[in-house]
Amino acid sequence: MPAKGKHRRPKSQRVTRAAAVVSAGGAALALPLIGATGAHAATATTYTVKAGDTLSKIAEAQGVDGGWKQLYQDNKAAIGSDAALIKPGTKLTLGGAAKATTTATQASASTTTSYVKPVAASIGTPYHQNGSMWSSGYHTGTDFTVATGTSLKAIAAGTVVSAGWDGSYGNEVVIQHADGKYSQYAHMSSVGVSAGQAVTAGQQIGLSGATGNVTGPHLHFEIRTSPNYGSDIDPLAYLRQHGVSV
Ligand SMILES: [Zn+2]
Repeated sequence: MPAKGKHRRPKSQRVTRAAAVVSAGGAALALPLIGATGAHAATATTYTVKAGDTLSKIAEAQGVDGGWKQLYQDNKAAIGSDAALIKPGTKLTLGGAAKATTTATQASASTTTSYVKPVAASIGTPYHQNGSMWSSGYHTGTDFTVATGTSLKAIAAGTVVSAGWDGSYGNEVVIQHADGKYSQYAHMSSVGVSAGQAVTAGQQIGLSGATGNVTGPHLHFEIRTSPNYGSDIDPLAYLRQHGVSV
């Protein structure tokens, strides 16, 4: 098979999957099924989305049976709820994906997801600084020193789980990411997203401010392993693990 250029997966390969399932009995059935899934995953063709791509463009160029609608169905987990919004770098499975293939594609897509700084600003109060002004006894996030009205960005693609007033955090946005971690942005002067909304890396989610319990404008930024207060981890270490220089 040529390394370059478009190609269709031969239809005959699909027959092998059906044939492999022809078996009877509990344990005896399990092995051919695993084998079939593995073989199918190995032959599945993936396509990495480039800037300017649309699902219909990809479906046509790659000769996907069923067109863009089938392509979307097969890759809904990777694409998200909006078929019109496909992100460059997303890996799509062409020609019908087995569940195992979709999961594997998703996992590799999330590890290569791009991350950005939440705001173009320098670091103020660091993570874990001790102090009586924090209810946990230490600072649960990292502060970025920034004037009110500065654009705040989602650090990575994800889904907004809450957006609005949250007591001492003032106006706050919390986003859940593909790896299950949560990023939190506090003290905002305005919130530009709403709960349930999908966001992309670098998308503006609001403006910095000085709402809530603050002595001046800054971005209080946390990474959490759950939606709950106290499950924080080092935000800068997390960003650096994902290739962000902060
Ligand atoms: Zn803070």
